[in-house]
Amino acid sequence: MSKVKYYYDPDTLSYRKIERKKRRTVKYISLFLLASALFAFLFVFIASQYIESPREKGLRHELQNAQLQLELLNKKMDETEVVLANIAERDNNIYRLYFEANPIPEEQRKAGFGGINRYKDLEGFDNSKLIIETHKRLDQIQKQIVVQSKSLDEITKLAEEKEKLLTAIPAIQPVNNEDLTRMASGYGIRTDPFTKVRKMHWGMDFTAPRGTPVYASGDGVVERADNGAAGYGNHIRINHGYGYVSLYAHLYKYNVRKNQKVKRGDIIGFVGSTGRSEAPHLHYEIFKDDQRINPINFYYGSLSAEEFNKLLEHASLENQSLD
Ligand SMILES: [Zn+2]
Repeated sequence: MSKVKYYYDPDTLSYRKIERKKRRTVKYISLFLLASALFAFLFVFIASQYIESPREKGLRHELQNAQLQLELLNKKMDETEVVLANIAERDNNIYRLYFEANPIPEEQRKAGFGGINRYKDLEGFDNSKLIIETHKRLDQIQKQIVVQSKSLDEITKLAEEKEKLLTAIPAIQPVNNEDLTRMASGYGIRTDPFTKVRKMHWGMDFTAPRGTPVYASGDGVVERADNGAAGYGNHIRINHGYGYVSLYAHLYKYNVRKNQKVKRGDIIGFVGSTGRSEAPHLHYEIFKDDQRINPINFYYGSLSAEEFNKLLEHASLENQSLD
């Protein structure tokens, strides 16, 4: 209850009540409210600096969790990098080596992205460093996967090539073992059947009855099938590509013509004794880059170890060739 104040009025000789002016009262109240509000605001402001609200607490936990998850993701990337490094090593040291491709250097596999700063948008936050690092590592892993994938594409192509090469190389005996009446005469110095002089015999002779089938020893294209080369009589040359050519001489008949494509094992002609030949036999030569090489090393496609040893034994006998 507010005090009622009086004053003495000399004119009426009596005490009179002091009437407070209404406007002044409103002013006091307003001032009081304003001061309270200011104080309350200051209090809340200062308190908020030191006391965490439940919402802030929640956010802080969430942030901590996000940070933890980022660190865990980085650990997972460590593991991924180890696996990728292992694949890259096998790629370089086994697959690429086997298919004669140059290894991909480490710098190329792990090359970063040059030029503009790709992570500019991620800068300016408290956790920028962690986030940028994570982005960088993932980008690098992604790039490594692309390089690896390309390398495997290349190897697939090389493997296909290698398969082609393997089917092209003359790799089987051109006459069946059961058709041979006598084992072969080999490549090397042999006695010439006509002059009885010892000279180089550039191929292998397989003795077999006239008309015995002769097989293409590898995939290729018939380069010639004629009797236009001195001494060889009716003969066939097959170009296998990759520098390999095989030659089949003294044939009785042909089964192919020039430019015909043949597969390994196709019957290309029949044993005969045309040209400079003493008796029916197949004279067989292999060329690599225009040089004649010993055919004995090229029967891995068809002979067993035992058969090969027998052939090797006979081929190395210093007997007389049939030319
Ligand atoms: Zn011969």
